[in-house]
Amino acid sequence: MKTGYINLNIETEELARRLAADGITLLALVRAIDSPERLIASDPRYDWLAKHIEQMDDYDRHEAVLFGFDNITGGLFIDAVHNSHRGQALGGCREDFYPTVETAVRDVLRLSRGMTRKNAISAIWYGGGKGILCRIADRDYADKLLRRAVYQSWGRFVAAQDGYYVTAEDMNNTVEDTGQMLAANRYTACVPRKKGGSGNPSPFTASSVHYAMLAAAQQILQRETLAGLIVNVQGAGNVGLHLIKLLIDDGAKVRAGDVNPKAIERLQKEFPSVEILTPSQIISAEGDIFAPCAKGAILNPETIPLLKIKIVCGAANNMLARKDRDGQALLERGIVDCVDYNCNRGGVINAAQEIDGYLAERVEEKVMQAYEDTQSILYQALIKKVPPHVIADEIADERAMKIHPTKGYIGPEYIKRYLALQQKLAQRAA
Ligand code: NAD
Repeated sequence: MKTGYINLNIETEELARRLAADGITLLALVRAIDSPERLIASDPRYDWLAKHIEQMDDYDRHEAVLFGFDNITGGLFIDAVHNSHRGQALGGCREDFYPTVETAVRDVLRLSRGMTRKNAISAIWYGGGKGILCRIADRDYADKLLRRAVYQSWGRFVAAQDGYYVTAEDMNNTVEDTGQMLAANRYTACVPRKKGGSGNPSPFTASSVHYAMLAAAQQILQRETLAGLIVNVQGAGNVGLHLIKLLIDDGAKVRAGDVNPKAIERLQKEFPSVEILTPSQIISAEGDIFAPCAKGAILNPETIPLLKIKIVCGAANNMLARKDRDGQALLERGIVDCVDYNCNRGGVINAAQEIDGYLAERVEEKVMQAYEDTQSILYQALIKKVPPHVIADEIADERAMKIHPTKGYIGPEYIKRYLALQQKLAQRAA
């Protein structure tokens, strides 16, 4: 049976159904060895998908994009390995509802690329990857039994990749879920402490954001500490709440906004001194620092003109909706961006240490490096009069091409495996 070309504007469930109907549990689209702009499908019936993705703006010579499906709900699974020069691709698994395959693929391409830079700037020996677990619209993902089965299914999908991609906790999942992934594969980080893991990465992410913020406050605002500064925190979730605690301990004046009333309730109970603003007020509120700790793309042509702060420093990934355009807009407004992946590195540093053998002192040392790196990035950006992400990207991209000292560059070997499969299937079809 031939699977004809379809627009990626189809629902994610539809692609999952097609894979199931074609008997494919793992479809790999891998970068051609001789032509890095091209992707080749491990099953020739999906050449159309490879061709579509290689033409997307967000495709940036990713080594592989892998598809599977959840045999419990029928939801689509995707992960992408952007660059494995530094070692296995490490990045969390995001659970979310994506209306179309296009939206899910775009997210996994952008996020995996961001992980390459984050892991490189953090100086951990892991490449960049990311996972996407697509929700099905009418299923209840709060149901414990459903989650258990879905995350074990994700674990089997990752296990089938034999360690090319290492998965972890991310948006909309918890260490309970990573525990289920671990039950089905050994390439999982952020697992519960009772299973020998390092648990929730959020306190470490909050800590690296906090170090970056201190460096920026010293350099930009000439303040020794954060005491007395007004910090507007968007999102009082896992990272936001930990960050708020650190800021209050420093004597900063904290304002926060969250779309979830339960998050606000928890915040008010734990930190009654925090001033609560509405989600739209938190973007335009006057202050010194804006700390986005909710979703990506929050800095865009609609929000940037509303900002009344001097520094942006938070945990959200891909804060700039369009990097060059929005980074430049911030620069023109005299607002200093501390660069998302530079700031939020703490969680992945903790996850990497968990796989390598957990030494808390090393985690702290590497997380603290966010302070010095932020100083250096902001200083160079000031001298060169460019948005700070330009400097951070230069540093990260150079480090990302360094080859793992003992494992070597693993990507080509995994790629060859899928290319061999493709040739076998193509010969069979001929
Ligand atoms: P979370 O889901 O625990 O918290 C996010 C909070 O933001 C939630 O309370 C949510 O209700 C709120 N929110 C969503 N949209 C909002 C809006 N428009 N305005 C205000 N509030 C809104 O997530 P988290 O783990 O705290 O992560 C926060 C961000 O940091 C995410 O973008 C995540 O990808 C990124 N990040 C997290 C980690 C980590 O260790 N958890 C590491 C790196 C990056």
